[in-house]
Amino acid sequence: MSIAESAAAPAESSGPVAFFKAQHQGFVATLAGHKAQADLIDRIWMQAFTSFERNVEDQTLGLPALACRKGCGTCCQILVAATAPEVLMVARYVRAMATGFKSVGIDLVDRLTTAADFVEPSGKVRPMALVRECPFLAEGICVIYPVRPMACRGHASFNEDACVSALEGGAEEVPVSEPHRTVRALVQNALQSAMRDTGYAWGLYDLVAALKIALAHPEAEAEFAAGGDPFAPVALDAVSRDEMEHTFDRLKN
Ligand code: SF4
Repeated sequence: MSIAESAAAPAESSGPVAFFKAQHQGFVATLAGHKAQADLIDRIWMQAFTSFERNVEDQTLGLPALACRKGCGTCCQILVAATAPEVLMVARYVRAMATGFKSVGIDLVDRLTTAADFVEPSGKVRPMALVRECPFLAEGICVIYPVRPMACRGHASFNEDACVSALEGGAEEVPVSEPHRTVRALVQNALQSAMRDTGYAWGLYDLVAALKIALAHPEAEAEFAAGGDPFAPVALDAVSRDEMEHTFDRLKN
């Protein structure tokens, strides 16, 4: 069920909560149905991203054009939070594309390994690293664009000048697309909730630090599929797990 379909449904089964529940059920079916299978990551990643893209398209009909464009990486300066399937998909992409990118002077692995982590081994987020160019930004272009996480897809601006001003410390508020932000939150939370209910690691992680782990430990994908949490040392705790669990349960029930 898309957001548009849930809005057209009877009142008791409509709106964002109905959309969350439908997404949650869909993700549970996939995660349970493909447990320990080789295509688990592909299936769940594709389901999440197809749902995000389809619903954003529905919800942004009639809105002004976005200011986001190829060559502008103004917003690619902050911590990117990602779920384990997203991290594992980016790791696959980096492994597959590293040689090709290196031949044109972009050393993806070196960029990644030399980038500062946002999360210390103690679990604390380093405040001095809160502005750091993403290692995947090359001449303003995201070199992992096809597999960029939902956090990146969900941030879309209507005003490039406001983005630049905000980055430079200006007080101006950036007019962002609410449909992008809302759909990202609903799809990502439903995915996390479904992973929690089916026995998978459901946290959010610092993308860069988690990728370093995934690339250094190719068994991370199998560990995740078996219910382990290979990225636990770089989990983000901006919102406590208890609070998130409470929210998921409230939305489901
Ligand atoms: S992954 Fe791509 S879109 Fe996301 S912050 Fe990095 S360069 Fe920007």
